[in-house]
Amino acid sequence: MHLKNLTIRGFKSFASATSFTFEPGVTAIVGPNGSGKSNVVDALSWVMGEQGAKTLRGGKMEDVIFAGTAGRPPLGRAHVSLTIDNADGALPIDYSEVTISRTLFRTGGSEYAINGSSCRLLDIQELLSDSGLGREMHVIVGQGQLDRILHATPEDRRGFIEEAAGILKHRRRKERTLRKLDAMQGNLQRLSDLSAELR
Ligand code: ATP
Repeated sequence: MHLKNLTIRGFKSFASATSFTFEPGVTAIVGPNGSGKSNVVDALSWVMGEQGAKTLRGGKMEDVIFAGTAGRPPLGRAHVSLTIDNADGALPIDYSEVTISRTLFRTGGSEYAINGSSCRLLDIQELLSDSGLGREMHVIVGQGQLDRILHATPEDRRGFIEEAAGILKHRRRKERTLRKLDAMQGNLQRLSDLSAELR
C-alpha cells in the first residue's frame, strides 16, 4: 500500500487545484518558509478524517478553506482527495486503488466519499483504521510531536500503542455500543414508568 496521489483545491493556501503524484519510496517536498509544505501534510490528515481544528493549526474547521489573498477572493469550499494504491489488499475493500475525498463548505456542510460514492466520516475512519493510518494520525509526525509523545502520560502512551496495534477501533466500537445500550436502558425505564402509570 502506498499513497499515489493527493489533489487539493481550495484548502488553505492551495486556491487552485494542485495535484501531487507520489511514487513508492521517499518523497521530499521542499520550499521556502510559508510556501505551504505543512499545508500539504494538513491536507493529508484532513482527508483521512482529522477532526481537530487545532491539529490542523487553525481555530475552527472553516479555517482550512482558502481565505483569500490581496489578488484572489476567498473560496466557498475546500476539497481534498487522496488515492491509495491497494494492490496488496492492505485496505479491507475490493479495489486495487482507493480514492477517499472530503469537502467542506463555508456554509457548514461536509461531504465524504470513497471511490466516488458518498459515505460517512466513520466509513473512512474504519476503512483506514487497520492500515496504520488511524484517526490519531501517529503516521504523521508533526513539528514538536516527538516531544509530546516523550512527555505523554502512561495512559496516553498506551493509547498510541493501541492505535498502532489496531485495538483502538474495537475500543471505540465498544464505547459506541455501550452508549446505545445506555440509551436503550433509559427508554426501557421510561416504558416501565409509563406502563406502571397506566396500571
Ligand atoms: P515553514 O517552512 O515555515 O514551516 P511551510 O512551507 O510549512 O512553512 P505552511 O505553514 O504550510 O508553510 O503555510 C503557511 C501559509 O499558508 C501562510 O502563508 C498562510 O497565510 C497560508 N494559509 C494558511 N491557511 C490559509 C487559508 N485558509 N487561506 C489562505 N492561506 C492560508
